[in-house]
Amino acid sequence: MYYEMIGFHGEHQSEHTVDGVPEPKLDRSTLFLDFDGTLVELADRPDAIEVDAGMGDLLRALSAKTDGRVVIITGRAIEDVQQYLQGFDGPIIGGHGAQERQAGEIRNHELADPATVGHLGTMTAAFAATHEGLICEQKPTGVVLHFRQNEDLASQAYAFLRALSETHDGFDLHHSKMAYELRPAGIGKDVSMRRMMESGAFAGTMPIFFGDDVTDEPALHWVAEQGGIAVKVGEGETAAGCRLKNPEAARRTLRRWAEA
Ligand SMILES: [Mg+2]
Repeated sequence: MYYEMIGFHGEHQSEHTVDGVPEPKLDRSTLFLDFDGTLVELADRPDAIEVDAGMGDLLRALSAKTDGRVVIITGRAIEDVQQYLQGFDGPIIGGHGAQERQAGEIRNHELADPATVGHLGTMTAAFAATHEGLICEQKPTGVVLHFRQNEDLASQAYAFLRALSETHDGFDLHHSKMAYELRPAGIGKDVSMRRMMESGAFAGTMPIFFGDDVTDEPALHWVAEQGGIAVKVGEGETAAGCRLKNPEAARRTLRRWAEA
């Protein structure tokens, strides 16, 4: 009944489930993993996260089980996130799909015009510098304004980025956890995921995605629709068929899969 409800392809599944998440056949799956709030707990600042010491080993073990089909898919810039992923040399999708790392090489999406991105970053950094509690995160493909340290500034942060998005064609305003973000229109984790799943070693495998944020919902929805395993980490409404309580539970489930 459960499988029917969320449309699993029986051939990829075993009957055994753990923590409400079915146990996949990893040799026939592609495992997409969000980073912040999914593999690691959120912190006050993006650079204040604490990464589990065994993270590199875990990702390497999962990569071995999937023939290299573990993909980190994050809003962070690849240049930023890869410092936390020592020992993992697999594919990374960064900037919500605006960047890709394949075989160690980073490519930025053509929609992220460097001059415009630089200009947006400079303006936003100047705004954050005059509003204590706002943190500007400049990325190679966009910019984020974090208000986690002072939630009272949320509406000012929103108004500022909204004005910028209205005067810069091709950049959309997005809302994520305690932050607003400008990124190129037409990109998204779901867009990148679909494209990757049609290519080479990925085609014909079952997609699995662990994500925690509202920005992960289109991709969670797509994975569920494909008959894959969509796992929401944490609270909140979701299109995913499975839920794990927090990043610790997500890591525990992944460790069990790696060791199975
Ligand atoms: Mg996240």
